[in-house]
Amino acid sequence: MTDRYAVIGNPVAHSKSPQIHAAFARANGDDLDFSLLPAPLDGFRATVAEFRAAGGKGLSVTLPFKLEALEIATSAAERARRAGAANFLRFEGTEILADNTDGAGLVRDLTQNLGIDFRDSRVLVVGAGGGARGIILPLLETGLRALRIVNRTADRAQALALEFASVAGRPALSGGGYAEIAGERYDVVINATSASIAGAVPALPLDIFASGSLAYDLMYAENDTPFMLFASQHGAARTADGLGMLVEQAAESYYLWRGVRPQTAGVLRALRHPA
Ligand code: NDP
Repeated sequence: MTDRYAVIGNPVAHSKSPQIHAAFARANGDDLDFSLLPAPLDGFRATVAEFRAAGGKGLSVTLPFKLEALEIATSAAERARRAGAANFLRFEGTEILADNTDGAGLVRDLTQNLGIDFRDSRVLVVGAGGGARGIILPLLETGLRALRIVNRTADRAQALALEFASVAGRPALSGGGYAEIAGERYDVVINATSASIAGAVPALPLDIFASGSLAYDLMYAENDTPFMLFASQHGAARTADGLGMLVEQAAESYYLWRGVRPQTAGVLRALRHPA
């Protein structure tokens, strides 16, 4: 019988996940069906229950259900608990296993696709919402030299840094407002705010990009995002959007469901340059 998976969200029609997972399955000769699963805003649990009852094996979870996905889990990976959200569910008998593959996807995109060597890197994360929360632990685990979190509302960045301060063997980690980083330079600057969605750019000091630095926007779009344009104008050597993260988090999820790590380069190329 064909194994069934889906991406659940509201709205979800725009999701590229079915296309990505179908490509992984084709390349691996894997027999699976991956569909879109729209759920009413107040109907996440019922929609999941129905999908499970029909034999569904797992779900990819997108906005606005990532918090509820963690709540319904019978067990959750540390990175999901720390993120306070899950984008991955696997069903095994009566168990619901939750994970969060967003941060691992980002780190894999940065290291494997963009060639970042974190060992000597000073990294800046801009933003303190759900997107930022999901990437802090995987970033700390890369062995980077220093991680600074800044946010328009400084208190939220401070709180986030404090929350992750207990990670064993952590590198220098601090959080605060934009003004506090004036005069500092970073090798990797990650925009985890939702500013790009509104066509805006966080009001960061202009001199934060070290020579050779990479500016990365979690958001992806057909053209360069406002943050990528801002970074290029102010000294970033390279820019990237979050499409690679999307594909890599899907690959990590596929691996957790199927035990096989799919190749991502061809899928990413096809999404960037559709035939
Ligand atoms: P949240 O709503 O949880 O958080 C929004 C964050 O953006 C807050 O830190 C907020 O600051 C900040 N912000 C909003 N507008 C501005 C602005 N004009 N200037 C400065 N800061 C601003 O959103 P998420 O964290 O869930 O999402 C952030 C981004 O990450 C989105 O673009 C989302 O699409 C993307 N994302 C991409 C993924 C991928 O696979 N590529 C995965 C997950 C997320 P304040 O606290 O001051 O309000």
